[in-house]
Amino acid sequence: MSSDRPTVRHPSAGPDRRLLGGLFAALLMACAALLGTGVPARADSPGTGATATAIAEALATSPVYVDPSFAAAVTASQQRELADRIAATGLPIKVVLVPLKKGDAFDGSADSLAAVVRERLGRPQLILLTNDQYGSWLRGTEWPDDTHQARDAAMAVGMLKELKDAGLAARVGRAVDLISTGQGTEVFKAESARADRERSARPTVKEKATDSSPGGSGTPLVVGAALVLAAAVGAAFLLRRRRSPRHTAFTFPDAVFAADQAADEAGLRRQAAAEVIALGEAVDGADGAATPGLGRALDAYDAAGRVLDAARGIPDLAGVLALAAEGRSALAAEPRLPLCFFDPRHGSAVRRTTWRPLGRRERVDVAVCEDCAQALRARRAPQVLAVRDQGRTVPYFELPADRSLWAATGYGSLLSGPGDTLAARVGTGEFSRARRRSADHGGAEG
Ligand SMILES: [Zn+2]
Repeated sequence: MSSDRPTVRHPSAGPDRRLLGGLFAALLMACAALLGTGVPARADSPGTGATATAIAEALATSPVYVDPSFAAAVTASQQRELADRIAATGLPIKVVLVPLKKGDAFDGSADSLAAVVRERLGRPQLILLTNDQYGSWLRGTEWPDDTHQARDAAMAVGMLKELKDAGLAARVGRAVDLISTGQGTEVFKAESARADRERSARPTVKEKATDSSPGGSGTPLVVGAALVLAAAVGAAFLLRRRRSPRHTAFTFPDAVFAADQAADEAGLRRQAAAEVIALGEAVDGADGAATPGLGRALDAYDAAGRVLDAARGIPDLAGVLALAAEGRSALAAEPRLPLCFFDPRHGSAVRRTTWRPLGRRERVDVAVCEDCAQALRARRAPQVLAVRDQGRTVPYFELPADRSLWAATGYGSLLSGPGDTLAARVGTGEFSRARRRSADHGGAEG
């Protein structure tokens, strides 16, 4: 349908045309949503339809779908128990537990899994509980809105001390209980406050990092090198920016801006807090001897906590996600790509690609999620994290690099090499300095 037409518009369009264009884009998006085509196209890509269809078919007869690889964690009798528990609530709760990995049918994204399953079920009212890509956290999503606090209920379960060593079945059961009693938000807030207290009472984390990683970023030489690199990259970025004509870099449908502005900042804050806590637990559980990246993971954890505490808006909270991902990558056996350059909320990138901003000669090497990769291939504008800056709404990467750490680093995509990390830059004060400069300029959010 016509939503395939390019969404990049010429920046010289006047205010009236912009408004009309925005309304038109909003209408198109509404039509797409009504027709159920709002779900990413990858749902229909080869090899992925069967999985989503199989899940939807199974859910027609039972509210619980458990992939065979999770059968040991949630046995057949536990599945029946859960089904009975759900039936007793009288709520449209469905549970889907499937392994999620980058590059799989759902790109390793719990959000994508939820969106695809919901589309296949075609129900206006649905409460979906899924696992996340790490397997131990649950994700709660509810349509048409979060009346039953499913999101908080699912996250609270991951934070409850008494469930720390409990199996997946017990966690799902508790999430169902919290949803049915409407206590998700209350318990989540209490657990977040407890985790905050524990986090601030953990000053030894930094020492642990420098102890366990003699070659880590605590070494002055490395910090010095990182500073030089950071300055060089920043200067290069500024030079590119100065050479390019103002306001011609990239434009987006107004509807995208509106969607960004309406994005649930509180929800993102909770997600970011949960990611930081999860990273802290993963760090605590890591075997120091077998994890060469432990020091970097601790640095990322520390930086994520600091940015979270100071976060002023969605761009900073997205930065917390990017730092948490950096920490996860440091713990992993293989280095991972950062989160999607265009908007870290899209999740992990699946590949790197070069992208030429409109109106510029130079191509930039960025890591992108599957949706954005497809958009670029189809010459459509990806959905971009937008920020308000001096009365304008612009893609976050259009901010001057010295006023936004996120613009300078592309949330990890534009880092210059192994020694250059988001955590190192936060550690050397780049985040705070950029924030002060931003405030002096009458301020972007991020
Ligand atoms: Zn993306």
